[in-house]
Amino acid sequence: VMINTVLNVVSDLQQALVAQSITDPLTGAYNRRHMDTQLDERVASPDAGGADALLVIDIDHFKRINDTHGHAIGDEVLRKVVAAAASHKRRSDLLFRMGGEEFVLLLPGATLAQAQRIAEELRQRLAQTALLPGEPVTVSIGVSALRDGQDASAWIQSADAALYRAKRDGRN
Ligand code: GH3
Ligand code: MG
Ligand code: MG
Repeated sequence: VMINTVLNVVSDLQQALVAQSITDPLTGAYNRRHMDTQLDERVASPDAGGADALLVIDIDHFKRINDTHGHAIGDEVLRKVVAAAASHKRRSDLLFRMGGEEFVLLLPGATLAQAQRIAEELRQRLAQTALLPGEPVTVSIGVSALRDGQDASAWIQSADAALYRAKRDGRN
């Protein structure tokens, strides 16, 4: 009984450690490290249906939110954006904090058109959610479908290029 109890405690600790090593502590989204391994896995064995897509989501004018309301409120906005994206995503989608105020939503099995629809719904939902009193918090999103022969970093770069266009064309 003693040995079993000890083994159970060790196993619980091990599980907690694994969870910690892949989670962003501020938002609860998966972290960058987990993103890298998951994207590499997707590229190595793409969806059987022949489609995979991802979104790069960047909060608009986040520096201004920090400057106006303070870093603690900024942190709260990050958590709320993650909560909204998490409640919006499908069960099989994976949400990562890539860094700062940038997130990646991996959409296994999604076509470009499906990914665009999901991005647009998320954009609208966030713009309509009162995250800060008296001012909307918006995001810009780049969408990219995995192409044959593309590696994870080229996949992200292509979504980043789309995100840059969204920013340049007026954000939100
Ligand atoms: P854009 O619309 O072009 O994306 O502008 P932006 O202000 O959102 O982008 P920029 O890259 O200039 O600023 C990002 C800011 O995010 C700067 C940085 O201080 C802040 N930031 C990064 N990580 C955190 C964090 O964990 N908490 C808080 N509160 N702020 C963070
Ligand atoms: Mg950014
Ligand atoms: Mg930003």
